[in-house]
Amino acid sequence: MAMNAKVLIVEDEEPLTLLLRYNLESEGYDVEAVGRGDEAETRILEGTPDLVLLDWMLPGISGIELCRRIRSRPETNGLPVIMLTARGEETERIRGLATGADDYVVKPFSIPELMARVKALLRRIKPELIATILNAGDIELNRDTHRVRRAGREIHLGPTEFRLLEFLMQSPGRVFTREQLLDGVWGRDVYVDERTVDVHVGRLRKAINRGRKPDPIRTVRGAGYAFNEQFVTA
Ligand code: CA
Repeated sequence: MAMNAKVLIVEDEEPLTLLLRYNLESEGYDVEAVGRGDEAETRILEGTPDLVLLDWMLPGISGIELCRRIRSRPETNGLPVIMLTARGEETERIRGLATGADDYVVKPFSIPELMARVKALLRRIKPELIATILNAGDIELNRDTHRVRRAGREIHLGPTEFRLLEFLMQSPGRVFTREQLLDGVWGRDVYVDERTVDVHVGRLRKAINRGRKPDPIRTVRGAGYAFNEQFVTA
C-alpha cells in the first residue's frame, strides 16, 4: 500500500518522538516532529499536515489549547488529531475529545494499536491518501505500479511529474502555492527555485493533455495551481 500522508508529531519526550517517527516512517508516512506547542502551531499554519499526533502536556501551548486553535481556524478545522494522554486522567480524556480531538491513546500505548488508529482515521477522513489507485475523470493513477492512464491509454511521466500529479489529485479543488508544491512534491530539504514548479507543471500538462483533451490542471493567477474539481466528476 502506497502512502505518503504527512504526519506531524508534537511531543516533548524525545525517546517517544524517536519511537513514533521510526514506526511511522517504516509504514511509509512522511514525518515531522516538534517538541513545543507554539512551534507546532507555526508548522501547521505553514503547511497543513494530514494528521497530527498531539501530546497533552507540552511547553509553549498545551496540547488541548493547540487542538482548540486548530478547530477554530477554517483552514485547519478538518485536520485529524490524535491526542496522546497520560494514564488515568479520565476527565482529561473527555475534555480532550470535547476540544475536538478525533481520537486519543493513553500512555504507555501499544505502537501497533496507534498505527492502526492512524490508518483508520486517515481512511475515514482522507481516503484518497490511503487508496492505491486515484481516479479523476478519465485519469487513473496507480501508486503501486507508478502507472498513469488517460481514457485507458498509458501516459509516460517522469518521476517528478508523477509525484506532482499524485499530489494535486489527492486534493481536488485545493489551490497550492508554488512553495507548497515544492514542499509537498520535492520535499522541504531540497532547494529548488519556484520557477521549477512551472516547468514541471508544463511538462505534466504536455504529457496528459495530448489530443486536445481538457486540461485537469487549473492555473490560479497570483496563487498557484489546483487539480480542477469539476474534472473529477466530469
Ligand atoms: Ca509531554
